[in-house]
Amino acid sequence: MSEVSGNQLNRDTRALLARVPAVERVLSSAQAQPLIDEYGRTQVVDAIRAAADSLRRDLLAGTTFDESFSLETKLIDDASRTLAARARPHLRAVFNLTGTVLHTNLGRALLPDEAVRAVIEALTRPMNLEFDLATGSRGDRDDLIDELICELTGAEAATVVNNNAAAVLLTLSALASKKEVVVSRGELVEIGGAFRIPDIMSRAGAKLREIGTTNRTHLKDYDEAINARTALLMKVHCSNYAIEGFTKSVSVDEVAQLAHARGLPMAVDLGSGTLVDLAQFGLPTEPTVRETVEAGADLVTFSGDKLLGGPQAGLIVGRAELIRKIKKHPLKRALRVGKLTLAALEPVLQLYRAPELLRERLTTLRLLTRPAVDMQEQASRLQAVLQRTLGEAYSVTAEPMMSQIGSGALPVDQLPSFGLAMRNAAGKRGGRALMKLEEALRALPRPVLGRIADDALRLDLRCLEAADEATFVAQCAELRI
Ligand SMILES: *Cc1c(COP(=O)(O)O)cnc(C)c1O
Repeated sequence: MSEVSGNQLNRDTRALLARVPAVERVLSSAQAQPLIDEYGRTQVVDAIRAAADSLRRDLLAGTTFDESFSLETKLIDDASRTLAARARPHLRAVFNLTGTVLHTNLGRALLPDEAVRAVIEALTRPMNLEFDLATGSRGDRDDLIDELICELTGAEAATVVNNNAAAVLLTLSALASKKEVVVSRGELVEIGGAFRIPDIMSRAGAKLREIGTTNRTHLKDYDEAINARTALLMKVHCSNYAIEGFTKSVSVDEVAQLAHARGLPMAVDLGSGTLVDLAQFGLPTEPTVRETVEAGADLVTFSGDKLLGGPQAGLIVGRAELIRKIKKHPLKRALRVGKLTLAALEPVLQLYRAPELLRERLTTLRLLTRPAVDMQEQASRLQAVLQRTLGEAYSVTAEPMMSQIGSGALPVDQLPSFGLAMRNAAGKRGGRALMKLEEALRALPRPVLGRIADDALRLDLRCLEAADEATFVAQCAELRI
């Protein structure tokens, strides 16, 4: 390269770069002020600087800009987009149209308004979390809620921790450390992610004493396993699978009777915390916490955010002397719940005092019991909207579907529902087209999550309540495939 053309290049480059407005000038423009008011000067300076750097690179790469276009406005627009994107929370609302009501990856139970109001109060005001208003002295956070839990479950005492995995870990640590716990091989479950009964058992320092076989366990298996090192007989609810065919398991009351005859306590990990008989709502029957306590279990652990319909929590109920021991264990302090959980849990539990109103007020139950005809009407309303949005490349049909309760509750039973099925109109290479459509739905301002099955992308409408339908329809216009 000759010296002349080198200088020419430098001159051209300098001329190009001179077009990039100075950051200080952009900052003092009227257009920058609203950004500074919203995000603060530091962030705006960084964003404008980054926009200017990128503009410089574009200019050097030969990108041309319309001469009538103000580069100052371009920097402001770019910075504004960057700032908005950075400020958007990573935890966001989505539409759960997967058909799974209690979806662990989507946050499980949705809370009723009563709980929402209580959480706002707890977030913004001092609370008597550990302060006894009657005596003016220090209180215990469990006291706020344990009477209500006992009233609803028939148990003598109760305590609450972060989730049910924590409830099981704490129970085993407090009662069975360095001792043996007898569990049927048919109940050594893994519940999604990292919760496996054998692992929790060893983390708690307890020795798992497996009995029976995968499909059959008899009372005599429990009886023969008991020895001087046995701390506990335990039953675990087979939340997310069912054993069918040639099977035998021993009921809670039989195991409890045996435990008591041998001077041992008996614990049940119930998984879902069902407080009422679900059959009265037309749902499949699940053992309730009260039935389990009445059957003789000395301790029962269950989740707050599964069928109970409350916030993430693990409840432990049972005999007062055992709960006392559990509460005294050092792990209790590490696993305890915060005020937001307690604030949300109490009003949800209160709803159970009015069983006639539960179906309407408890969001989870309302969703689980929504009649299929509701979803069917909704599907025919939305079919046309979605078909118009998607054009000819896809066909949209309203179809019956099956929803699931989710979160390991009642894995076998499914709930009749209705929804929209979208198929690639060309028929061929449907898989790729469906993935693209699924991606586009996920990219919406409030992402729409469905399920691909049998060459169709399916949106089960069970969890799209009337209050949200307008938002769903409005954002369809923003779909980009
Ligand atoms: C869901 C479940 C757990 C774990 O409960 P989390 O509240 O998710 O920690 C433990 N045991 C059983 C039987 C379950 O169904």
